[in-house]
Amino acid sequence: MRMFLGGQWQDRSSRIDVTNPYDGAVIDTVPKATAADVDSALATLVEGAKIMRNMPAYDRSAILRRAAGLMLAREQDLGRTISAEEGKILAEGLFEASRARETIDVSADEARRITSEVVPLDAAPGGKGKFGFTLRVPCGIVAAITPFNFPLNLVAHKVGPAIAAGNAVVIKPASDTPLSALKLVEILLEAGLPPEAIACVTGGGGEIGNVLCTDRRVRKISFTGSYEIGDAICRMAGVKRVTMELGSNSPVIVLDDADLEKAANLVAVSGFSNAGQVCISAQRILVTTGVYGDFLDALKPRVASAVGAGAKLVTGGQRRGTIYEPTILADVSSAMRISCDELFGPAVAVTCVDGIDEAIRLANSTNYGLSASIFTRDIDRALKFAREVDSGNLHINWGTQWRADLMPYGGLKDSGLGKEGPHYAIREMTEEKMVVIHG
Ligand code: NAP
Repeated sequence: MRMFLGGQWQDRSSRIDVTNPYDGAVIDTVPKATAADVDSALATLVEGAKIMRNMPAYDRSAILRRAAGLMLAREQDLGRTISAEEGKILAEGLFEASRARETIDVSADEARRITSEVVPLDAAPGGKGKFGFTLRVPCGIVAAITPFNFPLNLVAHKVGPAIAAGNAVVIKPASDTPLSALKLVEILLEAGLPPEAIACVTGGGGEIGNVLCTDRRVRKISFTGSYEIGDAICRMAGVKRVTMELGSNSPVIVLDDADLEKAANLVAVSGFSNAGQVCISAQRILVTTGVYGDFLDALKPRVASAVGAGAKLVTGGQRRGTIYEPTILADVSSAMRISCDELFGPAVAVTCVDGIDEAIRLANSTNYGLSASIFTRDIDRALKFAREVDSGNLHINWGTQWRADLMPYGGLKDSGLGKEGPHYAIREMTEEKMVVIHG
């Protein structure tokens, strides 16, 4: 495929191979963008931002709605593209394609709901007779930098709200998975988005990412990826708005009164779907003494069945070519690396705890805080968990890996800054002006 910048599809002689991570086959190539390409993309986007700023919400919403319709018509192709470049199974690729459509559709709704507020200035000393209100305006150019593991939906989570809010947007997709993002650009253009208002530059983060993040024409960076790159971007960005959706090592607490069958099912799903390469994958399973053995017995066969046809039950993580075997580690202590760092693979670590206080203490004992869950039938303990666990998403009687695309979603601590979900992302992709009428 070609990349899109300067209002047109462009090619370069230097290209990047896009390979299927499962079998290593080259499925396509994309141009390798340079710093000069980023500069030229931004020059056009400055014009695009003016067009978008003047476009009525009704029209922005209509473009997004048409794009969602085209995504529905092309769901099979999008799902297959996601599966081929990311390596996830086709069912997961198709599911991601349908979620991405939903994200764009919700963005179309939210484009029509951007409101400002009246400020009661007469409540301030000297405010008598004055009338104040805010105006919410687009920020201008949004840079959307995305990771490999959800190559379409995480792009949609940035591009949908950026357009809904009236911005121009430049996408820097992960070098491993640029094809789904380029296909979304095709769809948005077909749906009527002005070509000046969007760019998708394909190239290495180390070379063009820095150029993009430091350029003063970019007013907002929306980044999803690892803590290390997110931290580097925050340091280099300067005075810009940033949203950071970073990694985690999500805890699941299983108490003595839990429905163990349900807990084991959902830990298997939350820990191993998409090969565990999900930011909210269950990683640390904290189980109270009374049910520790029973829980492990319930979990093991479920992980075996998650392996699928031809695979074997796993006791320890072995690599087989490009595949890593699903792994359960038991009796893991909180000091071990697997309890502290993000693993981002198909493994869970199970730890025995003596009750809810220790479970909460361990749940909070990492730098991350993106998603956490608890299995218990006791509402008081469930609410204690919700109040005391430092996490952006908290699930009661479900696994950590659940997200509705319309909900506010984002991490605490080193898991990030700000929220996604179109309604919430639009707030972060707009700025507020204060207007005072002096009577
Ligand atoms: P990554 O290595 O941090 O890369 C993410 C993006 O940053 C890629 O597009 C990458 O480009 C780019 N990049 C690299 N260096 C850069 C630089 N100096 N300046 C600007 N951009 C740069 O992450 P990943 O391995 O693709 O994804 C996995 C990580 O994402 C995990 O930590 C996971 O938890 C996190 N994640 C978080 C969420 C969330 O919602 N919180 C969702 C999904 C994933 P290249 O590909 O060209 O290097």
